[in-house]
Amino acid sequence: MATDTCEMIPLSLEDPFTFACKPGVPCFNECCRDLNQFLTPYDVLRIKRRLGLTSGEFLKRFTAQHTGPGSGLPVVTLKPSGGSQLRCPFVTPQGCSVYPDRPAACRTYPLIRMVSRVRGGGPTTERFFLMKEPHCQGHLQARGQTVREWLRDQDLAAYNRMNDLLMAVISLKNRLAPGPLPVTMQRLFYQACYDLDAFRLTIREKRLTPSAAVDTPPLEGLETDEDALLAFALDYWKKAFAGHAAGRS
Ligand code: SF4
Ligand code: SF4
Repeated sequence: MATDTCEMIPLSLEDPFTFACKPGVPCFNECCRDLNQFLTPYDVLRIKRRLGLTSGEFLKRFTAQHTGPGSGLPVVTLKPSGGSQLRCPFVTPQGCSVYPDRPAACRTYPLIRMVSRVRGGGPTTERFFLMKEPHCQGHLQARGQTVREWLRDQDLAAYNRMNDLLMAVISLKNRLAPGPLPVTMQRLFYQACYDLDAFRLTIREKRLTPSAAVDTPPLEGLETDEDALLAFALDYWKKAFAGHAAGRS
C-alpha cells in the first residue's frame, strides 16, 4: 500500500529487498539535488584520487568545513553547485560522474547501516534498515537482492572499515575528551583526516604533535599507500585523545 511517509524497515544480512537505481527510473538523479552531504575522510580520499587532485585542492573547490555539534570535531560537507536546486557538483544527465568512488552514503542508500560497539573497544555490531521514501521509485523496480549482496555489489567493505575506525575515534573523543578541543588540535585533526597530502608532509617533516601519541611512523609505506596513511591518521587520533584525557598533550 502506498504511503506518504518514510518507512524504516529493519533487515538482517540475509533478508531480500527489491530496489534498483539506474537511468530510466523516472526519478533518476533526484537524490543528487537539495544536497546535504557529509563526507567522511575516506569519501574525500576516494573522490580526490578519482579527480586527480591534491586533498587541499579538492577540499577548497568542493567542500565546506563545519564543527560537529556533538563532538566539536571538524567535519566537511560537499558544496552544492550554483543554482537553487543545490545539485551535487558531480551529477550529470547520465548519472554520477564519480560513480566508482562516490561517497559511502550514496552507495549504501536505500539502506541505513547503524554500528554500535561495546564501551572499551569490544567488537562492533551492525544493524541495517531499509529506508523507503515515498518519492523513490527505485523500490518499484524488479531487481531483488539481499542486504549482504547489496553491500558486496556496492563495494562497501573498504568504506565501512574506514568509517568504523572514524566512529571509534569520535566515540573515544566524546568519552575521554568531551567539549571543544584546543584550536591547534582541531586544525591537526582536520588535516590528518581530510587533507591527507598535507598530513603526509607533516609526518615527513617530523612536525607531528603531540609526539607522545605515536611511535615513529613507518614513513615509507605511508608515502605511497593513502589508505594506510588514513588508517594511521585515525589510529594516531585514538592515541592522541587518550593522551589528551590523561593530560599528556
Ligand atoms: S556523489 Fe554522485 S551519487 Fe552522490 S550525490 Fe553526488 S552525483 Fe549523486
Ligand atoms: S529517488 Fe531512488 S531511484 Fe530515484 S534517484 Fe534517488 S535512489 Fe535512485
